[in-house]
Amino acid sequence: MSIGASIGGPRTRFVVTLGPACESAEQIGRLVEAGAGVLRLNLSHGSLESHLSTVATIRQVEEARGVPIAIMADLPGPKIRLAGVVPEHLETGASLTMVGPEEGVDEAGLLSIDVRGVLQAVEIGHRILIDDGNIRLLVVAVEGRGDRVRVGCVVTSGGALRPRNGVNVPDSDPDLPAVTDRDLDFAHAMTRAGADFLAVSFCRDGDDLRRLRSEVSGDAAGFAPGIVAKVERPAAVANLMDVVAASDAVLVARGDLGVEMDIAEVPVVQKRIVAAARSAGRPVIVATQMLQSMIEAASPTRAEATDVANAIFDGADALMLSGETAIGRHPVLAVEMLRRIADSTESWMDEREGPEVPSPILLEASDPWMPAIARGARRIAADLKAVAVLAWTRDEHTACLLSHERFRIPVFVFTDEPVLARKMRLLRGVRPVVTPAITSRDEFLRIATRIATADGIARAGDACVFVHGSGRNEERPTDAIGVIRIDDAPGGAS
Ligand code: PGA
Ligand code: MN
Repeated sequence: MSIGASIGGPRTRFVVTLGPACESAEQIGRLVEAGAGVLRLNLSHGSLESHLSTVATIRQVEEARGVPIAIMADLPGPKIRLAGVVPEHLETGASLTMVGPEEGVDEAGLLSIDVRGVLQAVEIGHRILIDDGNIRLLVVAVEGRGDRVRVGCVVTSGGALRPRNGVNVPDSDPDLPAVTDRDLDFAHAMTRAGADFLAVSFCRDGDDLRRLRSEVSGDAAGFAPGIVAKVERPAAVANLMDVVAASDAVLVARGDLGVEMDIAEVPVVQKRIVAAARSAGRPVIVATQMLQSMIEAASPTRAEATDVANAIFDGADALMLSGETAIGRHPVLAVEMLRRIADSTESWMDEREGPEVPSPILLEASDPWMPAIARGARRIAADLKAVAVLAWTRDEHTACLLSHERFRIPVFVFTDEPVLARKMRLLRGVRPVVTPAITSRDEFLRIATRIATADGIARAGDACVFVHGSGRNEERPTDAIGVIRIDDAPGGAS
């Protein structure tokens, strides 16, 4: 990647799902321009080949624009879907029979699903929900056993069906492993192709994540992809701290959460997940239906705009768009809308709230230097009214720890590792900049002050806090912190 311009705009970060509505290089370029920093490939749809070709397109856009772009490959997991031919509409009150993939028949009146071992756990009185609960069935009969089980249902709430609609069986939460054989194939291929994050759908506990991490550990040329835990079933909520600890980032997957759990609990569960991720120092994404009505309309509902702002108040690092961009009529407008809401929400937070004191990180035993430096940087920046933090690193943690402190001034993080810069696009407040290899502190300060000045952030006389993250190719790598006055650069660093 060429030397990067830095990233302006609000501190909140945006994860944008690609799909038929926005997959060309030109459209991806416009989404990035509008503020998308992480592009999500939903492997539940489309072929692996087409996703690999989208990866190549994204890298071309990245090269042309000089800004790092992260790619999140979202593994389908044991998502249950309708299989085969489906009727266009289900009438309320109608009866139908559901069968598993073992039956594999397209008989009229039968609705089949594509995951084994699900219907065997279903009992009379259980609900079967289709399309995120838009269509609801009640189980009234269970016939046969094992592979030949047939489940008789009554449609309690009908509606339009589409092939491959999602199916949830919330009353039995079958204990399916989160990473299926097909997910593993996808994970290997996407890691080799250079995906920056692998998102694990329907994880139950930390082991689901640890298993995937060890599976792909040999695939990447350099840094392995970050593992994103999608919290979307009751088991993951029950094992929340284990899930968070085993992850590199956490995603509040409100779509499936809202059907797997009582939808009335989703707002509180969102707050609990965000707080758990923050307490562990993991970046956290709030996802699904954030601007749902913009799939069709050119502007969101008032409730959606307020939901976006509230996710920022909760402390989310990033907000995600799904159908709004993947199949929506206004993908670019939707990203611009997030950006405008984030701008005004952040300005209000800056004016009205006292300093947001982040919770200390309850991390597993790790090097205490950088957390201490990050907290110190916050204090120094406040006391000196510094205009920016300028950090230099070749490790995975420095930017994450600085982001955790929730600075209100820009945090520029310079690195010569494009892969690290890409991952930083998930971190609230962080502006990653890719540079050629830097060999001395003077050189770093020269480059950093030039970019902060060119961006209009820093002027002569302004104070900036600088931070060195460890992991640099120095003889004796050490973390360090200091202050610089812009017109003093580069020799006056102290
Ligand atoms: P999905 O995940 O869009 O892959 O289902 C997000 C969610 O469930 O909210
Ligand atoms: Mn989901």
